Amino acid sequence: MRKIGTVGEMKTAADEIRGCGRTIGFVPTMGYLHEGHLSLVKESRRSAQTTVVSIFVNPLQFGPREDFTRYPRDPGRDETLLEKAGIDILFCPGDLDMYPEGFRTTVEVAGLQDKLCGRSRPGHFKGVATVVLKLFNIVRPDYAFFGQKDAQQAIILKRMAEDLNLDTKIEVLPTIRERDGLAISSRNTYLSPEERRSATVLFKSLEKARRIFGEGERAAGPIRKQVLRMIGNESLARVDYVEIINTRTFEAVDRIEGDVLVAIAVFFGSTRLIDNIILEGKRE
Ligand code: AMP
Repeated sequence: MRKIGTVGEMKTAADEIRGCGRTIGFVPTMGYLHEGHLSLVKESRRSAQTTVVSIFVNPLQFGPREDFTRYPRDPGRDETLLEKAGIDILFCPGDLDMYPEGFRTTVEVAGLQDKLCGRSRPGHFKGVATVVLKLFNIVRPDYAFFGQKDAQQAIILKRMAEDLNLDTKIEVLPTIRERDGLAISSRNTYLSPEERRSATVLFKSLEKARRIFGEGERAAGPIRKQVLRMIGNESLARVDYVEIINTRTFEAVDRIEGDVLVAIAVFFGSTRLIDNIILEGKRE
């Protein structure tokens, strides 16, 4: 595994790889790696001849009162995991290399960026879209791998790739979960033991939605109500949103026809966790 710390060196390395006719798979991350990240790495290694993983805690996607400075970091452990996973290049650029003085240009995916998580995290998806486009321009990957856990992020990035005619093919892979169903996330480390126990309500409430849907319910209202009720019964949980929406527009749906996203965000103390499932309703 080669470790690269500057944008310039990464661009040269990517040029060389492409010059040899090899394909590049890319997994952008903020580090503090877990099984979710490693599932993306595995798929990249299967699909592409060279795998590049980036670790960059992107200041642009954190709000002024968010957890940028206390976001968990463990570069030594990350490096060992990636070496073991057999990647080719680990790219860890510095903040000033990515955002030098005078930096002014950003990418916005109008409409989609302001809904769901965008409501409580203004500017977040502008930061995500901007850094991902920059990373794509630096690494110029054939494929890039993202997790379904961050469904809104994945949909926004696919929209950006299509709208801006990017050459990179975006692949979205299933959410990896703990044994009790909680989606694995670097932010789970913020939870107290009581909050961690409580947090299983995210997956349980989504399972309940799936069950009700499986029993034939197609109206979104009653399903949403059941999810809200279940989370409401958990004293440590505070709902940010529970939405049943069209996967392309993020508009709330009345009836579940075609692919519909059930997306939830819930606070446990000051930690905000997200999860989602897709329900596949047949169109009449
Ligand atoms: P992050 O380091 O949180 O920015 O995540 C980097 C990538 O890993 C993103 O594409 C996430 O969607 C993905 N990811 C994070 N957690 C999971 C998970 N539990 N299962 C699958 N993918 C995940």
